[in-house]
Amino acid sequence: MVDDQRIEDLLTIGVAADTFVIHDLIAEVRELRASVEIAGQELAALKLDRDDQHAGYMQINALYQAELKKVADCHDVLKAQKQERDAALARVGELEKALKAVEWKGLDVYEIGDYCCPGCGRSEKQGHAPDCIVGQALRPGGET
Ligand SMILES: [Zn+2]
Repeated sequence: MVDDQRIEDLLTIGVAADTFVIHDLIAEVRELRASVEIAGQELAALKLDRDDQHAGYMQINALYQAELKKVADCHDVLKAQKQERDAALARVGELEKALKAVEWKGLDVYEIGDYCCPGCGRSEKQGHAPDCIVGQALRPGGET
């Protein structure tokens, strides 16, 4: 780097031949130093912006990761609930099958002359009584 004081010293003692050129060079060096100073300040500002953006990114990323964890947790809960539901539906299917197996196999308590529903005592030809628990349980969708 050019030392202004050194150049001034040389001018004072008459070493430089063309003082106008030297003064122009000194002015140019000062302008360049000012430009370098401004560029340094701009660079520092850009670094601050970059740091702010990085901090913002880290903040957003932390929120995103937290949301991702929530989604994963919900997925686990839904998966467990689906397994419970599937197990319950399988159990309902087994119970329905067992109920159908005995639906018209009950004792003929009213002496109809045929096997009867163990719930309402009616024959298959008569159909279930409206309030028969077996008939209600075997209706589609378990409607009452
Ligand atoms: Zn019945």
